[in-house]
Amino acid sequence: MVKVILKKGREASLERFHPWVFSGAIAQIVGEPAEGDVVGVYAADGTFLASGHYQIGSIAVRVLSFDSPTLAPDFWEVMLGRALEVRKTVGLASSENGKTNCYRLVHGEGDNLPGLIIDFYDGVCVMQAHSAGMFRSKKQICEGLKKVYGDSLKAVYDKSSGTAPFKAGLDLVDGYIYKKEGFNDDEQVVLENGHKFLVNWNEGQKTGFFLDQRENRALVGRYAKGCNVLNLFCYTGGFSIYALGSGAKHVDSVDSSKKATHMVDKNVALNGFDSSMHTSYCADAIEFLSKVPADKYDLMIVDPPAFAKHRGALNNALRAYQRLNAAAISKVAPGGLVFTFSCSQVVDKEAFALAVFSAAAQARRSVRILDRLNQPADHSVNIYHPEGEYLKGLLLYVE
Ligand code: SAH
Repeated sequence: MVKVILKKGREASLERFHPWVFSGAIAQIVGEPAEGDVVGVYAADGTFLASGHYQIGSIAVRVLSFDSPTLAPDFWEVMLGRALEVRKTVGLASSENGKTNCYRLVHGEGDNLPGLIIDFYDGVCVMQAHSAGMFRSKKQICEGLKKVYGDSLKAVYDKSSGTAPFKAGLDLVDGYIYKKEGFNDDEQVVLENGHKFLVNWNEGQKTGFFLDQRENRALVGRYAKGCNVLNLFCYTGGFSIYALGSGAKHVDSVDSSKKATHMVDKNVALNGFDSSMHTSYCADAIEFLSKVPADKYDLMIVDPPAFAKHRGALNNALRAYQRLNAAAISKVAPGGLVFTFSCSQVVDKEAFALAVFSAAAQARRSVRILDRLNQPADHSVNIYHPEGEYLKGLLLYVE
């Protein structure tokens, strides 16, 4: 087995269970690992530290075990079973929950499976490998899913072509790894807090749906009654459906993707709402906002895509968050609410709050923070890997 030996003194982070080995910490590699191989990691004095997937790049090893140099034959079944247990504990994966049948089963490092995302859509598991090791393990992962879900598993779809590393020479073609007999769909209707959503993992963004906004959508539902709502960056209309469901006066949904706004219209109909209560706009959200008459909307949702995908883009991203939020805060009606979010991992809570603070000052309005918003429990954060926290938001009251 390939041994990765660290430089003297570079074992500290692994001793604190951080799941990454950076290439700069490596003194020597004994053997010639292929990308995605499981390798053992050792301190300079030869002490075993961890084992994990090897990859060429700044993160050289993603840790899978701190106990054993090799993976046990039932490794995937055990790890996926533990992830499912957590979702049962928080009431998402239980048969008693008749209102929600979709959730994130595996959130990478948060579930001690770095590089792997699996979203569950009422029996269909959609996986995205972010590392060569996870991509190469997809058949074993699929077998593990069959074991933990048994007969209730309808299909496993691999959607790694946009996430797995190309340089590793992998054959990146999306498709089913498993389909139960008779299963023949690329989309299906799922339930989230009793609301119906059409999810298409083949044509949709990411795995098909943004499961991470479930609880924040429910919060919008709490406040939207009687409101004129603007949902910016709406994707398939998650927030819009909750707002309509709780008695919003009217909802406008805006997204630059035609496919997305088409799905919003389908979801509005699917939930039985009168189409006169809702309007979709395929438009740039910032341009749309600039033409919005002041005071038209009592409640706005601002949920843009990640403005910073890496640290180098941080300053530009913060300026973009400030501009966008200043526009929203200046346009919302007096006494109105703004739900504003950032899903950029490199923008932390404090930096985001500071950008929104600057936005409020730029808009010269009195703003109170009513609530601080987060990612839900199924997007779990490993205490040893705080980088797993990415979604943050603020609920603002604008006087
Ligand atoms: N709020 C959504 C998720 C938003 S994801 C939900 O609850 O499901 C971000 C969305 O922003 C994507 O649908 C993407 O198509 C859209 N988008 C990206 N750039 C945009 C822009 N400049 N104007 C409007 N929409 C944009």
